[in-house]
Amino acid sequence: EHLANQIAAGEVVERPASVLKELIENAVDAGASRIDVTAEEGGLQLLRIADDGAGIQPDDMLVAFQRHATSKIASDKDLFRITTLGFRGEALPSIAAVSKVKCVSATDAGGLGRLLEIEGGTVTADRETNAPKGTEMVVKDLFYNTPARLKYMKTIQTELGHLSDVVYRQALARPDIAFSFSHNGNQLLRTPGNGDLKQVVAAIYGTSSAKAMVEVKADNPDYTLTGLTALPVETRANRNAVTVLVNGRYVRSQAVVQPLLQAYHTLLPLHRYPLAVLNLNMHPTLVDVNVHPAKLEVRFSKEAELRGFIEAAAKQALGSEAYIPS
Ligand code: ADP
Ligand code: MG
Repeated sequence: EHLANQIAAGEVVERPASVLKELIENAVDAGASRIDVTAEEGGLQLLRIADDGAGIQPDDMLVAFQRHATSKIASDKDLFRITTLGFRGEALPSIAAVSKVKCVSATDAGGLGRLLEIEGGTVTADRETNAPKGTEMVVKDLFYNTPARLKYMKTIQTELGHLSDVVYRQALARPDIAFSFSHNGNQLLRTPGNGDLKQVVAAIYGTSSAKAMVEVKADNPDYTLTGLTALPVETRANRNAVTVLVNGRYVRSQAVVQPLLQAYHTLLPLHRYPLAVLNLNMHPTLVDVNVHPAKLEVRFSKEAELRGFIEAAAKQALGSEAYIPS
């Protein structure tokens, strides 16, 4: 079990950003309306994620840190219609195997919660405590017991960049959740959580970028697409500027990005990317999210049709009256 967790950690926990991704996804799955993220030293020293979601039942807390203890999948069939972000039940045990974790959680307001501390996979504290409804996860000294992995970490600035990407993607995916993110005491992001994607775009990319955005909106029997897109206000190319969300999950997909670029191809110089947030929804059987351990790659069952759909939707958006080439 201990060894299995260490091995799984090697797959799931590549760097601080992978820890953050898993913990934010858990908060989202728990129905949080507010997610506060604090990091120190690129997340290597500390990551804290606090949410106001459903919380973990005191009796379930130890179990949650055991392998394949997901509360989200009841049967094999569920694997083909995944609606939550997490489903493997690997994240918590993997993270706890390679760091010092504190988890405080309560399932009702003002109620009794439970506090659990685990160091390198070993429980070091476990008691009842008063806590607000929701969950607080603190991950300290990541990779302290796996020096080879620690050595592989890049600069604080690089790790911070990856942490920011994770927060930005989740904030763009869920404008209805209020996110805050600070690093070494500096607040880097705050979103209102009122459901307005434009305000999230403004918080991340700046108000002039948000103003330049036109709406993308299309549907057919298989897909619905909503989102925003614009020529980059800044002149430098930025591949990260296209955020693709499939059924609410951030993915990397050429099948979505390429037709968007195709729609832009007469408007953008080569190797330049538009700014875009594309929210694509479809029946879960039309997409396989279970391709990659970090769950970033997906496979679409009707890819050619999807490409045509995206390109047509993007062209329509760019042709709309709001679009003025700069
Ligand atoms: P998975 O997300 O794949 O189910 P995890 O290891 O990430 O597996 O989490 C294990 C379980 O712990 C989850 O299924 C959930 O029941 C519980 N859990 C983890 N984080 C939270 C949270 N922030 N709020 C409520 N429950 C949580
Ligand atoms: Mg999870």
